[in-house]
Amino acid sequence: MSSNFLRQIVERDLAEGTYASRRFAGTPGDAAHHAAGAPDPARIRTRFPPEPNGYLHIGHAKSITLNFGLAAEYGGVCHLRFDDTNPEKEEQEYVDSILDAVQWLGYDWHANGVDHLYYASNYFEFMYRAAEALIDAGLAYVDEQSAEEMRAHRGDFVTPGTNSPYRARTPAENLARFREMRAGRLPDGAAVLRAKLDMASPNINLRDPALYRIKHAEHHNTGNTWCIYPMYTYAHPIEDALEGITHSVCTLEFEDQRPWYDWLLDTLCTLGLLAQPRPHQYEFARLNVTYVITSKRKLKALVDEKIVDGWDDPRMPTIAGLRRRGYTPESIRLMCERAGTSKAGGWTDYASLDAALREDLEAKAPRAMAVIDPVRLKLVNWAEIFGSDTHREPCHAPAHPHRPELAAREFSLGPEVWIERDDFAEVPPKGFFRLFPGNKVRLKYGVVVECSGVEKDPSGAVTAVLARVVPDTKSGTPGADAVKVKGTITWLGVHDALPAELRLYDRLFTEPQPDAGGKDFKLSLNPNSKQVVRGYIERSLRDARPDDKFQFERHGYFVADRHDHDAAQPVINRIASLKDSWGK
Ligand code: ATP
Ligand code: MG
Repeated sequence: MSSNFLRQIVERDLAEGTYASRRFAGTPGDAAHHAAGAPDPARIRTRFPPEPNGYLHIGHAKSITLNFGLAAEYGGVCHLRFDDTNPEKEEQEYVDSILDAVQWLGYDWHANGVDHLYYASNYFEFMYRAAEALIDAGLAYVDEQSAEEMRAHRGDFVTPGTNSPYRARTPAENLARFREMRAGRLPDGAAVLRAKLDMASPNINLRDPALYRIKHAEHHNTGNTWCIYPMYTYAHPIEDALEGITHSVCTLEFEDQRPWYDWLLDTLCTLGLLAQPRPHQYEFARLNVTYVITSKRKLKALVDEKIVDGWDDPRMPTIAGLRRRGYTPESIRLMCERAGTSKAGGWTDYASLDAALREDLEAKAPRAMAVIDPVRLKLVNWAEIFGSDTHREPCHAPAHPHRPELAAREFSLGPEVWIERDDFAEVPPKGFFRLFPGNKVRLKYGVVVECSGVEKDPSGAVTAVLARVVPDTKSGTPGADAVKVKGTITWLGVHDALPAELRLYDRLFTEPQPDAGGKDFKLSLNPNSKQVVRGYIERSLRDARPDDKFQFERHGYFVADRHDHDAAQPVINRIASLKDSWGK
């Protein structure tokens, strides 16, 4: 595992004992709560803090592997925290899908006998108390300017802001007014609570940032208890501190918020409200992956406009979609680790996810044959060679070249088999070594056949390929290799192949950066991102269960669809081809 700047920071803090004196009461809480607790058994605490307003995507996987990974590497604990301070847009469906995604990726928020699963909305009471403390200390005020006035007074990059006329209110006036806000006496937008910092700060985030806004809205957890809600930038540092987080890792867009994060926590520590040593924020560049979009809002648009078949459509870069597509947790974790953690950013090629998948499944996935675009091959001398057309010649093959412990695959050859349509050419292009009139190929694990002709319908389309079995060439029998062939093709006996629906997925977008620079991502949708065909699969898959993965020889990695697959009616998704051939 390679080092990165976050590992170095954690190692430095551990070496210097930065957090050695910390106590943890077993549950989140204020300074007094933790002071009464025991020394923290976790050497560090990190957290993954999703807002439950959509399904998690590949970018979140990066954050999950990073935060849970750091905790695991350094004897720490990672909390799963729902950042549910916004009353709108949050739904139980999203909460459930997030719990499922984190677990499926292989992480556990249960540690030292405690379930570290938290909801930021459970901290509303403390956040309110902290706001009153800031008002008491003369560090916050209720501003009743209109939104336009506030914007005008904020200034901009080159112009310092100017003080609000409400800034000089006394703590007593502010407290009374803030309590009226809480009591629901003011309509939405009538007032905000702001920190009193510096309207001339070069960092616009420090120009009296808002702490609370009025929103008469029902919250999924707290119902109608509140009609004022904390701003994200006020809530998040407090959430970290209440939970005893040591390293609060976030993406770079929060870099300019760090001075505020520090000010707020230092202030609340000084006021005796929060435990010390307090958390620190560190930023890294978000994961960008080519050919996908990683904005919940845009992904939601794809779902709402039915451009895809739901959040777990196998083309979606959501964890649920990747899972249904057949990517393994191991492959996603490997890809995230290889993408690295830095401040520099950049784009990770989608092909690296496929590469990680191949690495994972190459060693694990059982092999099988499938015919995706079938045409019938008639072995015209079958009865002559084997005595009768009802004869079936048993064949077998290893389930995996390096896993001898798996039972061998059993199937049989008969007078008619399915082959891939493009394994036959009436007029062979240069370098074509498969079936064409007069040429010999081996039916893999079976016999050598020599193409003798073709049957067509009145329109000229090939309806069957004809071939003769070459005697004494059965794979695994003495002398079988005496007849040399340049091509080996996969096949399935018409009598024992299982019909299957094959869903051939490809990238959802044709552009490597579909939404970069504000581009309309809907303009680069790949019209061929989903093809559904009827083909055949080997009978060794007759007991395949949803989520089972296999390598179809010559075709790539496939998975039995977790929703629609049924042994009686197989539905198989293509995960990735055997080699990276995209765009070539
Ligand atoms: P979106 O912009 O799609 O809504 P978000 O960042 O608002 O995503 P959150 O639920 O707030 O979504 O994210 C939870 C955590 O995941 C945050 O700590 C966030 O920084 C991190 N995260 C989100 N997207 C990425 C990404 N592309 N790469 C790395 N981390 C990410
Ligand atoms: Mg967010």
